[in-house]
Amino acid sequence: MQIAIKDCSLIGAPVNEYIPNILSKGRIAMIGDAAHTMSPMSGAGFNDSLDDTVAIMDAIKKYPNSIINALSEYQTRRLDVVRQDVLAGQGFNRSFGCL
Ligand SMILES: Cc1cc2nc3c(=O)[nH]c(=O)nc-3n(C[C@H](O)[C@H](O)[C@H](O)COP(=O)(O)OP(=O)(O)OC[C@H]3O[C@@H](n4cnc5c(N)ncnc54)[C@H](O)[C@@H]3O)c2cc1C
Repeated sequence: MQIAIKDCSLIGAPVNEYIPNILSKGRIAMIGDAAHTMSPMSGAGFNDSLDDTVAIMDAIKKYPNSIINALSEYQTRRLDVVRQDVLAGQGFNRSFGCL
């Protein structure tokens, strides 16, 4: 292992995953990796960050006079989607080990 690391034939990258239970509370919302970190193997983290942004913008347009309602709408629209994406990446990663 030490030789492999020294001559760069082995590269280790930490993989972080977080399955969120909420995306917003009151006047605060989280988007992107801060809200739902997923394995790079899922190839969806950046796309999900963009979709979060569009969802928040749409929700603010829908509820221009209530940021609380807007962020709640954002959560309703996005929470299940991003949870499924994190779980998909997690399942893929786990299929490589512990057989
Ligand atoms: C190897 C790899 C491959 C990937 N491949 C894909 C892919 O094919 N398709 C895909 O959709 N996604 C992919 N992703 C995931 C994608 O890169 C992330 O999901 C995306 O970049 C998340 O965007 P973000 O804006 O939420 O976070 P980030 O891009 O991490 O941006 C957060 C920013 O905040 C800054 N920051 C942190 N703390 C502070 C602070 N205290 N003050 C000020 N600034 C701060 C950071 O420096 C960073 O610039 C991949 C990720 C990796 C690691």
